[in-house]
Amino acid sequence: MDFRLPDEFVALKKMVRKFTENELFPLEQDVINRESARGTTDAPSLAPEVEKHLMKRTEELGLWGIEVPEEFGGQELGALAKVIVVEEMNRSIVQFTLPPDAPNLNYLKECCTKEQYEKYLLPYSTGEKRSALAMTEPNAGSDAAAIETRSDFIDGKWVINGTKAFISFAPKVDFFILITVSDRVKRKKGGFTAFLLDKDTPGLQIVRNVNTIGDMLTYELVLEDVKLDPSQVLGEVGNAFIPLQNRFGVRRMELAARCCGYADRLIQLMIEQANIRTTFGKPLAERQAVQWWISNSTMELHAARLMVYHAAWKVDQGHKDMRKEAAMLKVYCTEMLSKIADRAIQVHGGLGVSKEMPIEYIYRLVRDFRIIEGPSEIHRWLLAREILKDGKPYDAFRQ
Ligand SMILES: Cc1cc2nc3c(=O)[nH]c(=O)nc-3n(C[C@H](O)[C@H](O)[C@H](O)COP(=O)(O)OP(=O)(O)OC[C@H]3O[C@@H](n4cnc5c(N)ncnc54)[C@H](O)[C@@H]3O)c2cc1C
Repeated sequence: MDFRLPDEFVALKKMVRKFTENELFPLEQDVINRESARGTTDAPSLAPEVEKHLMKRTEELGLWGIEVPEEFGGQELGALAKVIVVEEMNRSIVQFTLPPDAPNLNYLKECCTKEQYEKYLLPYSTGEKRSALAMTEPNAGSDAAAIETRSDFIDGKWVINGTKAFISFAPKVDFFILITVSDRVKRKKGGFTAFLLDKDTPGLQIVRNVNTIGDMLTYELVLEDVKLDPSQVLGEVGNAFIPLQNRFGVRRMELAARCCGYADRLIQLMIEQANIRTTFGKPLAERQAVQWWISNSTMELHAARLMVYHAAWKVDQGHKDMRKEAAMLKVYCTEMLSKIADRAIQVHGGLGVSKEMPIEYIYRLVRDFRIIEGPSEIHRWLLAREILKDGKPYDAFRQ
């Protein structure tokens, strides 16, 4: 067993680390100020001209399309390379995502027809078009099978009516992957259909923004008699759920990698503060409580990172069923970061909760992370269901 990263990935990690420190860290105070000034509006925390500059810089550095297959204009370096890049970039709080947003790419790759390939998949994989997933509804979140948005096939067109809630990035995207109920009797047994929905389609409205605790902007969409051609169906009619599961697996792995990046940064900040801050004549580094916060955080981050890299390695080996790994990553890594963010605040005292440092930002953001992509309780339930079905403990190294 060889735990070393290949030389090219070590170089990639180093390059992204440098980029993060040189280009993203200096932007953090501005992100904090813009987020605070936003109130309930949806003004972005990253200034659009700065985002444009970062897009250009990262393209020059060859950071786009890391895991995208070469046939779609990407670099095909695989999932492990992607999580390394995501982890290193998310040592900073600057909300900047490298194009394309890979989880939707996987969904599109699995389901697009030839015509959809040209119109959606290719421009998406090269970063020209952006997309979002529109699944959640006011009455259906964790229980996605309870969605009510209807798609009815009438006179050769699909007619769609319903409301979608908490949809991230809505005004910034070019199209949505929209999940609907096409058969109200079959429902999850062959009654859910996905569509490619262009943002400017008549009948679709982004009605309001709903800001959340941690710099995550979400939107409510209303669909009123939206008429779509059958060529807009993504995948098979009635079978939206299987490719969705695969999309979620990749998304959860990337979210877990983000958690590792933030945790790494917080531990660094704790170490620095413990060494420089003196109380009652001694540095904090000499207090056992502080030492334990740092050692517990170190152990938890190490375990989390091994889980993330292992899952990415499995994806690169061609494993398709990542349900157990995705559930474990989602719960463990988000809860790991929650604990570390709390300790980092405590080590820094008043400074920790102030807007002079990025710590309280991460503390709030991770609260969103424990809800998005399925709350912890759902993943614990799914994991237990799989393990009980297997009838034996999970052991990644047993054949
Ligand atoms: C910032 C943000 C961004 C989002 N972006 C998107 C997006 O882009 N696209 C999209 O489609 N959706 C998006 N969502 C929606 C997100 O996926 C849902 O919020 C999430 O799945 C939880 O659903 P819910 O909010 O309806 O909570 P509910 O389903 O009402 O659950 C509430 C709580 O009940 C508990 N619970 C529920 N069921 C069980 C159970 N079986 N066992 C034990 N406990 C249970 C859990 O603790 C859960 O937190 C986003 C949400 C947020 C907050």
